[in-house]
Amino acid sequence: MNIYNLTREEMEEYFVSHGSRKFHADQLFSWLYEKRISSVSEITNIKKELLNQIVSDYSFSKLKLVQVQRDVDVCKYLFELDDHEHIEAVLMMHDYGNSVCISSQVGCNMGCKFCESGRRKKVRNLEVFEMVTQLLMIEEDLDSRVSHVVVMGIGEPFDNYDNLVKFLRIINHPKGLAIGARHITVSTCGIVPKILEFSRFPLQINLAISLHAPNDKLRNQIMPVNKAYPLKELISALEVYLKNTNRRITFEYIMLAGVNDSCECAKELVQLVGHLNCYVNLIPYNETNNLDFKRSNTVQIMKFYDILKKNRLNVTIRREFGSKISAACGQLRSKKEEL
Ligand code: SAH
Repeated sequence: MNIYNLTREEMEEYFVSHGSRKFHADQLFSWLYEKRISSVSEITNIKKELLNQIVSDYSFSKLKLVQVQRDVDVCKYLFELDDHEHIEAVLMMHDYGNSVCISSQVGCNMGCKFCESGRRKKVRNLEVFEMVTQLLMIEEDLDSRVSHVVVMGIGEPFDNYDNLVKFLRIINHPKGLAIGARHITVSTCGIVPKILEFSRFPLQINLAISLHAPNDKLRNQIMPVNKAYPLKELISALEVYLKNTNRRITFEYIMLAGVNDSCECAKELVQLVGHLNCYVNLIPYNETNNLDFKRSNTVQIMKFYDILKKNRLNVTIRREFGSKISAACGQLRSKKEEL
């Protein structure tokens, strides 16, 4: 077990179960997340005996940073895990703060046809500490705070749900990383039962849905998850989510040339989501060497945009970071492992 796996409540339970007092969780959280110790020997206000017990029960190790690619406003980090697997995280420096995109699994089982990580199957879920320490290590490298987190890196977060929610609780906790819930976004390809469960999750985290197609026929072709949870079920789950949370959702829509970028698709999209409280984020596809999909040209993206806009959808086109440094989902990991 790793100490960065523990939520604040779990840490309190640990101390109580060892005949000790809850307030030690306060102290330990502060060493880990405020003072950012690099070794247990720095802890001064917990009794030696208790500290020895903690050290024999938990590892304090983080990840191994094996590569950083830097550009003006973006850094891409490649981490190695204890079992020698690799994951990526991306830091984007916006004018409003530092935003980090983290991975939730090693590989991914969703099999989206356009996605580099989907091409390569899931190896395993990430542990809570493997998600938390991606952020700690990036803040250390940056020597500054991360203000926004998106769970949009490698993996399907709702396929690692229990670890995901613990991670969210730790990074949101005021004595943890203290990242405001409204500054955290979880992105899913549309796992309906988990969307429903998440609609009852008490923190005000943003939800993004990778939609990418406006009808079942097309979505089945590019996103196998649609066969398990077709659009009708997905949209009704989102209606429940919106009713329970009173929030807005974001739809991500990658623009793939000749696949989903026609004006007909734009009109169908208006029909599909026009009644929901949502944003649509159009994403220029990041081409990868291993897959045949091409990005839509700018004229086509603008035509698509205009149709949504005319029909009063809230639509934006995603700003691009790091196309020079293989920032497309999963490319750095593939390069490292398929040399
Ligand atoms: N599994 C989750 C989160 C990880 S993928 C999900 O599906 O939402 C994060 C986003 O990147 C998804 O919208 C995914 O469809 C998109 N994506 C994958 N490969 C991409 C590429 N090459 N260019 C642009 N977006 C990509």
